[in-house]
Amino acid sequence: MTEHEVVIAGGGPTGLMLAGELALADVDVVVVERRTSQELDGSRAGGLHPRTIEVLDQRGIAERFLAAGRPMPSLYFAGLALRTDDFPSRHRHGLALWQREFEHILAGWIDELAVPIRRGREVVGFAQDDSGVAVEVSDGTTLHAEYLVGCDGGRSTIRKCAGIDFPGLDPSTSWMIAEVEFADPPDVGTRPEGGGIGPVDRTAGGGPYRVVLKERHVHHDGEPTLPELRDALIDAYGTDFGLRHAQWMSRFTDAARQASAYRAGRVLLAGDAAHVHPPQGGQGLNTGVQDAVNLGWKLAHVVDGTSPTSLLDTYHGERHPVGARAIRLTMAAVALGATDARHEALRDTVAELLDMDAGRRHVAGALSGLDIEYDLGPGHPLLGRRMPDLDVHTADGPLRVFTLLHDARGVLLDLGAPGRFDASPWAPRVRRIDATYEGAWELPVFGPVAPPPAVLIRPDGHVAWTGDFTDPSLPRALTTWFGSPSAPARHPMTTTLRATSPRSVSAMDDAKSRSGRRAETNVSRSSFPSA
Ligand SMILES: Cc1cc2nc3c(=O)[nH]c(=O)nc-3n(C[C@H](O)[C@H](O)[C@H](O)COP(=O)(O)OP(=O)(O)OC[C@H]3O[C@@H](n4cnc5c(N)ncnc54)[C@H](O)[C@@H]3O)c2cc1C
Repeated sequence: MTEHEVVIAGGGPTGLMLAGELALADVDVVVVERRTSQELDGSRAGGLHPRTIEVLDQRGIAERFLAAGRPMPSLYFAGLALRTDDFPSRHRHGLALWQREFEHILAGWIDELAVPIRRGREVVGFAQDDSGVAVEVSDGTTLHAEYLVGCDGGRSTIRKCAGIDFPGLDPSTSWMIAEVEFADPPDVGTRPEGGGIGPVDRTAGGGPYRVVLKERHVHHDGEPTLPELRDALIDAYGTDFGLRHAQWMSRFTDAARQASAYRAGRVLLAGDAAHVHPPQGGQGLNTGVQDAVNLGWKLAHVVDGTSPTSLLDTYHGERHPVGARAIRLTMAAVALGATDARHEALRDTVAELLDMDAGRRHVAGALSGLDIEYDLGPGHPLLGRRMPDLDVHTADGPLRVFTLLHDARGVLLDLGAPGRFDASPWAPRVRRIDATYEGAWELPVFGPVAPPPAVLIRPDGHVAWTGDFTDPSLPRALTTWFGSPSAPARHPMTTTLRATSPRSVSAMDDAKSRSGRRAETNVSRSSFPSA
């Protein structure tokens, strides 16, 4: 029997991202992956949405993906292009990047973090009790862990073994997807009912082409064949464009389901294991990666012993509604794609509404993930929303707020808040930063907000508290998200950041005065980039 703190079943986008998050928090994690390599047989998901690029930026790895992809000027809802270029984000555009490239780059990061991946074997079952989870692997071994996370896709073995319901809609349409060579130039572009034809290499153009076509029948046994694809092309375009060869063919439906619970004791679900829906709107991969970023630090705190297991319930509480909204949007997109006269009239009406700024921003905000707001109660509009990537100044120079999140620890950002507060009891999990910021505060979709004097930022980049240091809710917020002050310190703090301007200078703890004295703020982990 091998011992680990966490076993992740499945090394797709969600499992890899979660592995990275846990490794950053020094959790002993292992991934068990059915595939023998990271290669995918098809291109699958087509891109990253702005919030996904932001969460990668929060870990300092966005550039790797940006360098490999191409900016997408718009996101698409039911074939309607929605601009995102007026959202206040450093990453206001999506990124065209096939899933196979995304996984390859993400796996490189996991490799750097030295997470072991047991490839070519699968999790076949598990048993859990109060002491942990015994995870059965297809090679006959058993891994013993404190927690098991099912990131094993839509047909999740973990979800089924955990007995978690997966209610939702049965399929009403089926779609064929393929990467093919044509002898004749095809009609490139989207189709009114969804799908269409486009180059696999979206920069160079030309063949091979990716084809997505609605099928005549909903139910099929197995993967599509070349004659079926030819028939579907002729149905849609009146020609098969001289279809020669298919490198990859598959099919998907508009079935939409969501796990009724994201946690059953020591077992959690994330990504497609927790929610499936058709790819219209391109939200599957993005939602899974963001699930992982919400879950990773919470699981790390629980494994670390600094937070109670109830912290894990906030994972379901926060991410289940986000998954439900993604499902709702894709259901709407599929409905709007129907080609009868009534649905066309509905689609034209929706198109008119989305031409209006408020409508466009509302739907683009949801697709982009930039408007996600976790319900952390009433308060400043920042509460529960993502922290903007401000350009702040510290004693060590200018830096972006996202760089403070590279090591997946919390941040108490003091922007000149009145009062004193001793944050040192939480210091291993939260670093305090004294900084100044003179610019505007604006949230996507919501608009401008009043500058907060201080902000508590969770490792996933969401704001857990705003206020000043006389506010009694600050220690409560720190305890809720980062454990009790007496919880054991596991990660030593090594480097420092200091504030510059008199406005920003604040004390690290009660022992230091705010008046003109330069305060030092510990920064955990020596790997933190010096500003
Ligand atoms: C044709 C197609 C097009 C798509 N287009 C888009 C798009 O445009 N945009 C978008 O965002 N999403 C799209 N998606 C959805 C996207 O591919 C998924 O949402 C995404 O892959 C989910 O990632 P995941 O890691 O949760 O699950 P998966 O990618 O399914 O990964 C699960 C992993 O677990 C492994 N595994 C399974 N069972 C076990 C087991 N028992 N033990 C160990 N390992 C196991 C699998 O080998 C796999 O590597 C598309 C999907 C398809 C099929």
